[in-house]
Amino acid sequence: MGTAINEAVEIWDSVKEELKKTVPETSYPWIMPLEPVGFENDTMTLLTGASFAVQVIKKHHYQQIMDAFKAVTGREIKFEIIVDSKKSEELKKQTEKINKKYFDKETRERAMDNLAIMQSAANLNLKYKFENFVVGENNKMAHAVAFAVAQEPCKKYNPLFIYGGSGLGKTHLMQAIGHYAIFHHPKMKIRYIKTEEYVNELINNLRMGGNSNERMNKFRQKYRNVDILLIDDIQFVESKTHTMEEIFHTFDTLYNKGKQIVITSDRLPKDIPTLTDRLRTRFEMGIVVDLQPPDLETRIAILKNLADNERIEMPYDVCEYIAKNFCDNVRELEGVFNKVSAYSSISGEPLTLDFAKNILKCEENKKKITINEIAKVCAEYYNVTLKDLKSTQRSQTISQARQVAVYLTRETTGMSYVNIGEFFEKKHPTMLFSYEKIKSELVTNRVLREDLREIKQALKLEM
Ligand code: ADP
Ligand code: MG
Repeated sequence: MGTAINEAVEIWDSVKEELKKTVPETSYPWIMPLEPVGFENDTMTLLTGASFAVQVIKKHHYQQIMDAFKAVTGREIKFEIIVDSKKSEELKKQTEKINKKYFDKETRERAMDNLAIMQSAANLNLKYKFENFVVGENNKMAHAVAFAVAQEPCKKYNPLFIYGGSGLGKTHLMQAIGHYAIFHHPKMKIRYIKTEEYVNELINNLRMGGNSNERMNKFRQKYRNVDILLIDDIQFVESKTHTMEEIFHTFDTLYNKGKQIVITSDRLPKDIPTLTDRLRTRFEMGIVVDLQPPDLETRIAILKNLADNERIEMPYDVCEYIAKNFCDNVRELEGVFNKVSAYSSISGEPLTLDFAKNILKCEENKKKITINEIAKVCAEYYNVTLKDLKSTQRSQTISQARQVAVYLTRETTGMSYVNIGEFFEKKHPTMLFSYEKIKSELVTNRVLREDLREIKQALKLEM
């Protein structure tokens, strides 16, 4: 069950990228928040909170989406869109709140715009608010500073630089600032961007017509004409000189006008090796705060919060069991929570400690093997180095070793292609391709099957 969803999410992410080439930005609010929830028989099921989105897409973007699926997967993929009442309720509540709060048309429209931009940026982002952020020792400082920035943007902490490992709440905190501002500073213009998307947008603009045309001006204005700029995952600028140049000028323009800038990153500015010095010094100019992994107490509180929000009865011993066994990051914790609660609701069985243990048992075993171990054994087996696997070298042996490692990681750890890609320093579609390649080759290639058997043996994986 989980794997199909992961695959759907990854394909859909690539399709969204592809769609940016053909779909006008005004339609993003309908398309980008669609959430893949199923993928079977080459049909993808997408969820929306806005019933209007179904009409817009059917009428204007149907073919573009079909083409994008084809471009990404090389196959004809069908899709269906269903309206999720819970999401739609939430969206309606937000819009009503804005309508009630602001009487003049202009302010209302600005607030709606801001909401749509936040909406179009990421899935499930309606819940990324301060109210849903559990504060513990690990994130106390980051939370306090983020909240201060939300209350009084452009005052004390500028820029705000938030860093921390994957799944620890960077995006959540950053969007919480945006959500707060929508309701408390409606006159301000807010823009949230993922660095990866910014890079793509920039490249597309350059490809379509050089450096100094109207397109580029419009692109620049979009980010320089705002009051609060939220830049997510800045580590993606690494080595992209042109992007760094653009961001540098955007930064200075905004900063000199006294506008608020918030940046997140998975590491400190000084640990992004190819970041230009002038950008680094700017990022360090304001305040730098970190997010650490949550301690046991905070993990229990996060689970409790999730259960309350979903109105699910989760006994304390179940919370404790999950919190003790899954401690890497909050995203993982949420994944486990979703799994347990989904199984319980599908089977109709009460969520007891035994029930949870039973469901999570296999995961615990699987957790023992890491991507690093798999990669090391694969490298050894094919007589190459770990560094080779992470390099861009494509000699046959290296490619083979890398692809087998990707395949095994995916099979045994269930890690997402994005995270696998992070490890091998490759894009996630490449990882998806590697997995698929080995999977189909295994059917016909006896030598490969034998290789895999031996590697699994070396890893002490059951066959
Ligand atoms: P990052 O951007 O650091 O990779 P996210 O902000 O996407 O991480 O967080 C991953 C998930 O964990 C999100 O669903 C988010 O809502 C949740 N989360 C993270 N930190 C907290 C927290 N302190 N309280 C509640 N939920 C959290
Ligand atoms: Mg993030």
